[in-house]
Amino acid sequence: MPEFKAAIDAIVPELIDFRHDLHAHPETAFCEERTSGKVLAALKTIPGLDIQNNLAGGTGIAATLNADKPGPCVLLRADMDALPIHELSDLPYRSTIDGKMHACGHDGHTTCLLGTARVLAQFADRLPGKVKFCFQPAEEDGAGGERMIEDGVLENPHVDAAFAFHGWPEIPVGRIISVPGAILAAAAPFEIEFTGKGGHAAYPHRTADILLAAAQFVTNLQAIRSRFIDPLDPVVISVCAVHAGHATNVIPETCQLKGTIRALSEQAHTTAKQLVQRFLMNTATSFDVRADLRFASDYPVLINDEACAELVADVGRQLLGADKVKTKYPPSMGGEDFAFFARHVPSAMFRVGLQPAGAFEYPGLHNPRFNFNDDAIPTAIQMFCGIAQRYLSTHGDASGAYEI
Ligand SMILES: [Zn+2]
Ligand SMILES: [Zn+2]
Repeated sequence: MPEFKAAIDAIVPELIDFRHDLHAHPETAFCEERTSGKVLAALKTIPGLDIQNNLAGGTGIAATLNADKPGPCVLLRADMDALPIHELSDLPYRSTIDGKMHACGHDGHTTCLLGTARVLAQFADRLPGKVKFCFQPAEEDGAGGERMIEDGVLENPHVDAAFAFHGWPEIPVGRIISVPGAILAAAAPFEIEFTGKGGHAAYPHRTADILLAAAQFVTNLQAIRSRFIDPLDPVVISVCAVHAGHATNVIPETCQLKGTIRALSEQAHTTAKQLVQRFLMNTATSFDVRADLRFASDYPVLINDEACAELVADVGRQLLGADKVKTKYPPSMGGEDFAFFARHVPSAMFRVGLQPAGAFEYPGLHNPRFNFNDDAIPTAIQMFCGIAQRYLSTHGDASGAYEI
């Protein structure tokens, strides 16, 4: 492992430049063309990688180290997409694109995975198996991870386990969190369109008032969580957008709602979705209006495999110190499409601290002033290298491998 550390330290300055470049040029879901091009060009300079590109609609990349070597295959994953948020930081490398920014730190994830590929390639002959580096599009919206799996990223060679990390602004740099079980929620974004007979505001009895229907529906939705689902089974239903009407004296004909359903168990998630549909249909019938509901990119609950989460924690204890590893941390109602990987193979996502030493506050994920902390890059790469090494040496023929 000292060799890993030296190899990581040698490339950190270049990686910081690489991340700043990605940060300045954010691209949202399925449009990560420049980002994917930069990653592909960098991967091509690394010896020993078997590279597949044009995955998941064009921008996804998978690169396998030791593709022909016997032994297990471990997948390490990063997401590349940015968010439709206007950056408000005054960083010298702030977003150059209005309305788009890396507010979730995926520029950092991509950079760290690339750095890991560069380091592990130097030790390929000592790894008792294969490592697949997976760069996916569209984590924030569009289920890019699911598309990668549909395009075969878990096969050829077959993947035995998958790991990913997320930069985490709530803990200091140099620390990690690795927790087994459900850590992030199932998330089902929805869009609803009410349509009805509009008309003069003075004669509502001659209309079918979609606004009153929509308002009652939004209010009644909260009864699903409080009266239909076990209080110990977390569910959140939030309506986040309402668009209808433009005049003071016209009852409009259409009203659009947007929102999201979140749950920490698949059962509660399914129940909540069915109840939203039922409440909607009942409201529509009561008000004699039409209501159409559409769910988009439904993400499952992210469930960390117990053994994988413990492997991450143990690697962290050895590399960072026992006091730097948290194995208890409350789950979050945020969603994460790494959950699709975890559905297919034993997997764990861990969190890597971003808070600078001495700071008590750090802008949260999706905040217009958020920035992935460069000081976290060595920790994340060290963890990825250690995890790959540990997984392969404990699941395959470890003769000649490094011990960490
Ligand atoms: Zn995000
Ligand atoms: Zn994210």
